[in-house]
Amino acid sequence: MNNSKFKIQNSKFLLLFSAFCFLLSPFFLSAQHFETYFENKTLRLDYLHIGNAQGEKIEPVTFWQGGIWSGTREQLIEPERLGEMVLTVKDAQTNDVIFTRSYSTLFGEFVTTERAETEEGKFEECVLIPYPKMPVKYEFTVFCRHNNPTFLYEGEFNPKTTPQKPFVKEYNVIDLHIGGTAENCLDILFIPDGYSKKNKKKLQKDMKIFADYILNCSPFYENKDKINIRAIEGYSKESGITNPNANVFKNTLINSSYNTIDVDRYLMCLNVWKMNEVADDAPYDAILIICNSTKYGGGGIYNFYATVNSDCQFSDYVTVHELGHSIAGLGDEYFTSEVSVRDFYPEGVEPVEPNLTTLVEFEKKWKLLLQDVPVPTPDTDEYNNVIGVFEGGGYVAKGVFRPWRACTMKEKIYNGFCPVCKEAFGKVFEYYGSSE
Ligand SMILES: [Zn+2]
Repeated sequence: MNNSKFKIQNSKFLLLFSAFCFLLSPFFLSAQHFETYFENKTLRLDYLHIGNAQGEKIEPVTFWQGGIWSGTREQLIEPERLGEMVLTVKDAQTNDVIFTRSYSTLFGEFVTTERAETEEGKFEECVLIPYPKMPVKYEFTVFCRHNNPTFLYEGEFNPKTTPQKPFVKEYNVIDLHIGGTAENCLDILFIPDGYSKKNKKKLQKDMKIFADYILNCSPFYENKDKINIRAIEGYSKESGITNPNANVFKNTLINSSYNTIDVDRYLMCLNVWKMNEVADDAPYDAILIICNSTKYGGGGIYNFYATVNSDCQFSDYVTVHELGHSIAGLGDEYFTSEVSVRDFYPEGVEPVEPNLTTLVEFEKKWKLLLQDVPVPTPDTDEYNNVIGVFEGGGYVAKGVFRPWRACTMKEKIYNGFCPVCKEAFGKVFEYYGSSE
């Protein structure tokens, strides 16, 4: 009897103790103390990401400051890592982690290509941090596809002594949809590329069309009050977009180009510093570059940016598919198209993407949503619109599984995100809107 009483007291003590630990955890501290550590302003670091298949390094270049902090204030320590890069910011004095951000990069894709075996890549990248009130340390860590971390860089930033350049306002900003304050919403910012001054009317019209592509697609549709969409009214010297395969080279606002890492339809921007400099005229959490071109193309990288071409029959689908990558960290559910990345989802490793599984740690994915279906689930009409475990996804036909037969992350279907992908978007809206 004594023994059981002791057990009860002991478990009460454990409960109290774990509550105490929770209070001390960096998550709780940062959630309560945005104002202790940060000003309502953004710090941006431009840096270079250099390397090849054998190794990589980070070279910081310029700190910029200005604007407001439009990101989360409650979940300053991210609840989960979805990208391969992690930026960690620590209080320089106490070493407490006060901010983390995971994201992916074009460099991360480049190093998996055949070209990276022999060639070195040098890519522009940026990170945004709420502006620290006191000196901080910042660290870059990269996780390989086997989820092993490699430390890349540690630097210090002192708000009083580190050289910084101010944001400079240059462009008119068009409000396309305002669901709430920047602090409490996912702020999507459009940057038009390849629109010359002669294309002014088209630019204004296209921005509205693309805002509707987003807002009319579920789950954006149901979450309009958690989303803001704005566009930078920025013009390019020339109209059109660079397409090296057709020997077309254009002088545009942020230098977007087809044939990125040797895939013709892969449309990306190599001037990432300029892109963020243009973007900092408005609050933004996610960038969509709208490229004035009739040639099919696009791209999207988690917490980095997304692109789409303006005029083709699939532009609505490409817009939301690429935002699936860049905003929700979703993986491609298809396995038939040409890609240059290799061994993207190694055997025996659970992918970080919420909509793909190798069944290694399926319980972390959509296992709880399954209802009486065989695993793997046959890819037959009987299982249309049913959550299952369909083999094929993430660029391979075997060993990687997807939750739905034909989701927007697999087929050219607009407004067809599966329940698993919608849930991933739901977490993002919660992340950005959690301060209310
Ligand atoms: Zn899906």
